[in-house]
Amino acid sequence: MNQKANFLGLKEEELIDFFSSLGEEKYRAYQLIDWIYKKGVTSFDLMTNFPKELREKLKKTAFIEELVLLDEQISKDESIKYLFCLPDGEKIESVVMYYRYGYILCVSSQVGCRMGCTFCASGIGGRVRNLEAGEIMAQVLFVQKELKRRDKVLKGIVLMGLGEPLDNFTNILDFLHLVSSPLGFNMSLRHVTLSTCGLAQKIKRLAEYNYPLTLSVSLHAPTDVLRNQIMPVNRKYPLKELMNSCRYYVKKTGSRITFDYLLIDNFNSEKVYAYNLANLVKKINCHVNLIPFNPVKDFNYRPPSKNKIIEFKDMLEKSRIPVTVRRSLGRDIDAACGQLRRKSYHQPKGGDL
Ligand code: SF4
Repeated sequence: MNQKANFLGLKEEELIDFFSSLGEEKYRAYQLIDWIYKKGVTSFDLMTNFPKELREKLKKTAFIEELVLLDEQISKDESIKYLFCLPDGEKIESVVMYYRYGYILCVSSQVGCRMGCTFCASGIGGRVRNLEAGEIMAQVLFVQKELKRRDKVLKGIVLMGLGEPLDNFTNILDFLHLVSSPLGFNMSLRHVTLSTCGLAQKIKRLAEYNYPLTLSVSLHAPTDVLRNQIMPVNRKYPLKELMNSCRYYVKKTGSRITFDYLLIDNFNSEKVYAYNLANLVKKINCHVNLIPFNPVKDFNYRPPSKNKIIEFKDMLEKSRIPVTVRRSLGRDIDAACGQLRRKSYHQPKGGDL
């Protein structure tokens, strides 16, 4: 039996080829793209500019994958966390966060993650599989529909949910194509942020594409001794190599890098580390985001006191490093990445999800 084709994730050329294999004109592919990405319609029956015969043909040969919503948590600060089920039964999360400038969606790029950062629930259990470009896009379309229903607009996307995007390189490139295609979703890559834990070689590879997106590197520690303790990736790509790849990226793309730095009490938030951090990044065109650790049940880490955070920030500012302290959203829900998915595996069978 022939397998049905999943239209979500296919590029324009592939859709044109599909329609031509059915004896249909190229413009039908463009109509389909318009239905899926602009109107958010996934049922062939609702595609009213397709003749009935074509709709029947499509139903027999193709489908448009949709995610099944398993759980949804809404925070007091308007962040919403979704838990989705994929067709193979795997689960992923997406989070919508509300900022002054609008709604930003954080999507998953893998089921699980193999990077093993010690502060992150996504890494517990390792990587199960990569997400296809269409599966990442499905998260975007779902949330776009939800926001539209409430007269809200999606302003940007962050690849920072479950998974390390650069560990799923080809599918991420395909996703970037889908999300920015003028015929389809048409979001400028200026509104997309790709976050990596520091896969130095892949950062250099990404630089070759010269995308106008924001690259955000999760640094979290300014010395190898410290970083090795919380981010195993540092043993493969120590800070010297990572910083070289960041310098290369900035030079090649002409864009500014963001360095994320989780502030963890009694670990990396002493003044001396602010000094080390300033020295590490001072010659790179960058912005530092300080993120006080959001306490998570599975981990013993805590955020430092307000005073310590201010001292840390001041030290960076004295060294003329552009810096902001990012507020932690969704403190009252399981908003840190991987928490909701992890919790779902602990639910007794038949229990509420
Ligand atoms: S922080 Fe990112 S890279 Fe590290 S384990 Fe979590 S998802 Fe993976």
